[in-house]
Amino acid sequence: MTAVAAGRPPAPPRAGDLQVAGMTPLSTVDWPGRLAATVFCQGCPWDCSYCHNPALIAPRTPGTLPWADVLAFLRRRRRLLDAVVMSGGEATRQAALLPAVREVRGLGFAVGLHTAGPYPRRLAAVLGDVDWVGLDLKALPADYDDVVRRSGSGHLAWECLDLLVASGVDHEVRTTVAPGSPAARHAVEIALRARDAGARAFALQVVRTAGTRAEFAAEHASADHRAWQEEVTTLSDRIAALGLPHYELRPA
Ligand code: SF4
Repeated sequence: MTAVAAGRPPAPPRAGDLQVAGMTPLSTVDWPGRLAATVFCQGCPWDCSYCHNPALIAPRTPGTLPWADVLAFLRRRRRLLDAVVMSGGEATRQAALLPAVREVRGLGFAVGLHTAGPYPRRLAAVLGDVDWVGLDLKALPADYDDVVRRSGSGHLAWECLDLLVASGVDHEVRTTVAPGSPAARHAVEIALRARDAGARAFALQVVRTAGTRAEFAAEHASADHRAWQEEVTTLSDRIAALGLPHYELRPA
């Protein structure tokens, strides 16, 4: 390697480098209130037991949908869609997210982002270019490593919440609960802390087994579903009483 080559700065990320694992052409739920196409980005640093798309976790798996094809699809749908949601996996894992978001906005679409919040600095870098963020809060900080099965994760999503609120970007904070999970044990406390941090919308999502690994689905199937339903109702009533500006229960 020559001295000149060694000192050359790395090339800036290009939208075309985005590893895209797939796309939903039309969704009414990925960004509540919007007609959106959803782009699924490959790779996630975490490994939640209830992940509903574990095939998207491996970061080295190449994308299956070229970015040029995504753009071509969006150009054809300009009058039929009003938004695009960048989802995952974990969309903020990829440096190509920001140029990709800018290209989508350049076509006239509003851009939403789903994130679990493992990369606060990368989220901060993209916040000025998105119109809405759906942020997962999976647990209280002390429980995070157990839930996402990676050490050192506890503060990251909560740091992302502070960044998101400070940015003024429209958002929804979501907590997914499963029977016996740390999130179910502390859902009210999570919602309370989110409210006190300034979150304006909170959703309690009841876990679904579609797409999850067999061991999680089997464990879920063995739960007492009547007791679980009662627990969810109680949690939801208590969260609704917290007075968040907007609250929604999303049943399984
Ligand atoms: S953060 Fe999301 S994509 Fe990543 S492992 Fe957890 S549920 Fe799956």
